[in-house]
Amino acid sequence: MTENFEGAHTPAVAFITLGCAKNEVDTAHMKTRLVQAGFTLVDDPACADAVVVNTCSFIQSATEESLEAVFDAADLPNVAAGAPLVVAGCMPARYGDDLAEELIEARAFVPCSREDDIAQVLAEALEVPLLLKSEEEAVVVEESLTNSFAYVKISDGCDRFCSYCTIPYIRGRYHSFPFKNIRAEVAAHVAAGVGEIVLIAQDTGRWGTDFEEPLSLAHLVAALAEEFSDTWFRIMYLQPEGVTDAYLDAVATHPNVCSYFDIPLQHIDATILRAMNRTGSRAEFEALIERIHARVPDATLRTTLIAGFPGETEEQFEELCDFVEEGLFDYVGVFPYSREDGTRAAELPDQVDDDEKADRAQRVRDLADTVSAPRIAARIGREMDVLVEGAEEDGQLYGRAMCQAPEVDGVTYLPSGEPGEMVRVRIVDTLLYEMEGE
Ligand code: SF4
Repeated sequence: MTENFEGAHTPAVAFITLGCAKNEVDTAHMKTRLVQAGFTLVDDPACADAVVVNTCSFIQSATEESLEAVFDAADLPNVAAGAPLVVAGCMPARYGDDLAEELIEARAFVPCSREDDIAQVLAEALEVPLLLKSEEEAVVVEESLTNSFAYVKISDGCDRFCSYCTIPYIRGRYHSFPFKNIRAEVAAHVAAGVGEIVLIAQDTGRWGTDFEEPLSLAHLVAALAEEFSDTWFRIMYLQPEGVTDAYLDAVATHPNVCSYFDIPLQHIDATILRAMNRTGSRAEFEALIERIHARVPDATLRTTLIAGFPGETEEQFEELCDFVEEGLFDYVGVFPYSREDGTRAAELPDQVDDDEKADRAQRVRDLADTVSAPRIAARIGREMDVLVEGAEEDGQLYGRAMCQAPEVDGVTYLPSGEPGEMVRVRIVDTLLYEMEGE
């Protein structure tokens, strides 16, 4: 254990985080709770008095990856010698008591709904008292101090119950986080020098609708963009129904809100969409995109699609390919359907063979690449602001423009600039998703 400023021994805790940005934010919140309770944090799990693995479990492959991380952590010399190993997040939320019986390597389990109790759980596991500090003394742990951007989660859970998805069972019902909490988190990141805030949730478009006095995403975005006018705001995971006129106005009238729309469609065939328990159709989505461009002419569009959903015929798949070929989106993420226990889609007839699903997903990906490349290349000659992120191993500086979301859309290579700085460049070349600025 390390020594704190009072001379007492404070246990050092390390986190291993799997999965998406939403899990990274949850890890940051758990770290904050621990710091408030007198724990210290270390990066290297091998040097920790306790190790927390924050797991992802929304599909089988993610569960397997999380299990592997837990077994690797259990093999660390300090853990093998008795340092508690705690399994947190989606995996205990999804598998509950079954997991506790199977995973004897773990000392304790902290499902998503109990992450606020992480300090108590670790204190019990380590047999140490909690040194609770006041809220004022709370340290907001910034996961991204070295980055130009930070994720801020605005809600958790989901009420949509798409038939293939485990999230509503893992994360529970939709609940928006209060405006003041989101604002405080944004303010802390901005004060730490972060240039871009990425608002995330399972369903960002629904933010505020569950309050006693309902609010909207448009309200949230406008309020944040006005108060933090030098900071970029980007909103991810906006379901099609969330693209309201008020939201489009908020994007169009605030230059620091990225004109970027991440709208998961999942499919475009109405029959498949109904089987997914989702709304929409190809015609409706085409109209939606037209509506976006009419209000935000320079909009960048991203979507995600699922290939090989149960019952997807060759004809419906070809229709999906045809839609992608239409070239309405700058970026398309494609996933093969994953059959998940406990979901309604897992029970549907006409499940598509695994090889066929993988093949269909790859075909859509290849198609998306051929469509996106010329769309990205069409940016050559345009001038845009780029937020400098850092340098690659060979020293090459890079950043991101408003049309590039962190971690998914590629980067812009730059001749000069300091991390966190905004530089104005002309795009002189592109290579598939990457751009080069001068
Ligand atoms: S909207 Fe997203 S998180 Fe919610 S059920 Fe559908 S796929 Fe899952």
